[in-house]
Amino acid sequence: MKAQDSRSQEIQSFLSENGLPANFCIAPWINGDLDQLGTIFACHRYDDKKLPLGNWKDQLFSEEFNSKNYQKLRGMFHNNEKPRSCQTCWDKEDYGNFSTRHEFLEDFVRDCKENDPKALAVLEKIKSKNITAEVSDIDRLEVRKSILCNLQCRHCGAESSSKWLSVYKQDPTIGDWSLGVPKTEEDYKWLLYFKNQVMDEYLRDVLDVSKYCRIIQFSGGEPLIEPAHAEFVKELHHNAKDIQLDYNSNLNVKESIIEKFAELWKPFRKILMRVSIDADKKTYEYFREGSKTPLLEKNVKKLHELTSNVLMTGTCTTTNLNVIRFPDVIDWWLELGLLFHTSVVQFNQGVNPRFLPNSLKKLARINFDTYLSGFDQEYAISKHEIWKNDKMWKQMLRRVHKHGYQSLDYMDGGEDRGDRFPEVAVDYLVRMDKLFNTDVLELYPEFDQWKQDFIDKRSEIKYNKVSRRV
Ligand code: SF4
Repeated sequence: MKAQDSRSQEIQSFLSENGLPANFCIAPWINGDLDQLGTIFACHRYDDKKLPLGNWKDQLFSEEFNSKNYQKLRGMFHNNEKPRSCQTCWDKEDYGNFSTRHEFLEDFVRDCKENDPKALAVLEKIKSKNITAEVSDIDRLEVRKSILCNLQCRHCGAESSSKWLSVYKQDPTIGDWSLGVPKTEEDYKWLLYFKNQVMDEYLRDVLDVSKYCRIIQFSGGEPLIEPAHAEFVKELHHNAKDIQLDYNSNLNVKESIIEKFAELWKPFRKILMRVSIDADKKTYEYFREGSKTPLLEKNVKKLHELTSNVLMTGTCTTTNLNVIRFPDVIDWWLELGLLFHTSVVQFNQGVNPRFLPNSLKKLARINFDTYLSGFDQEYAISKHEIWKNDKMWKQMLRRVHKHGYQSLDYMDGGEDRGDRFPEVAVDYLVRMDKLFNTDVLELYPEFDQWKQDFIDKRSEIKYNKVSRRV
């Protein structure tokens, strides 16, 4: 039996012992996910198009939390229905995988079994078939306040970065090939919300709800440059010892910002800092347009020195560029003292790791296997003394194996496109080069065999309208 089977069995037993249906999900009672456009989601996997839950930039989230559709969603779970808005979870479960629903339930079951008063109180309310919920029961919140960002990374787009939005405003044809563009004037309005103001009633309402949470996650844009953020964090101080703050940050911000937040974070139970890097040292500035390698290194070092409650993880959003360089990526993160974590670019085919010639996929796996054969604690300690700590080292070792192979397995899945560079990838990489005045072939000699495809594409694409400085 796979480990995940016994985990899902434990969840199923708990549900049936408590008279809850097999397809039940706890997320709509204890979680909220708020995005840059104002959309409210039951969780980060929820498809709001099928059953919209409201807009937190237009209505108070605390009121929307019991909107008609929110109640409808909770009612569906009580009736053992499988809402279409939760299709990603059902798809995963159909393939025998552990879903986001399972993850939420696993944590909830653990809390109940440990007699956590908050979880037990929620359980009692749910058992009485309630479809309304109290905001004071919310335990986790993900807040993506705005797209205000200092960088313009190659896998990103105008719905997540204000730098990309500026380029898109100059030349809307970018919308034909780049990711996530605003569709309406209303979208523009919400995307740039909070750019110039510190706090308004809607954000204050989110802040008030956050005071009940034990985990609050911030991403953006770049959350550390968002004007209201310091005030938001300060206002959580009164019960900070019970709160964990999770960040997705590029950490490529002024040192004074890092110093300010290092001070503000001190009273919190824990800070989990996921540093978005996505590259090895040689390609970092190329991939994350507008970034500075020395600034990132300085800020990571500073955070190590200034804080004891911050756990830092480097995040590598796996693309067709970094997947062939995993050993270099990990080596740099060993030097920085960052744990390893990966996610995968799925929807942007231009940089999706599956869009590589077969021989490069093979090379990526060989490079990784070879690297792991010499990957031991002594080697890690030669890079940074943090790895002398056995607990940290064991975590790093486990993560490198788990996340590395997960990404490689994803890369090898899907359609076999042969030993050629898929046109969609060449097209995207060349357009990026034209936009940023760079040359992917200079940085990736691994692509030499397909050089002519890139050269042909360069002469074919006339696109060169937008100034690099935005
Ligand atoms: S079933 Fe999945 S998608 Fe639906 S609310 Fe639960 S965790 Fe989210």
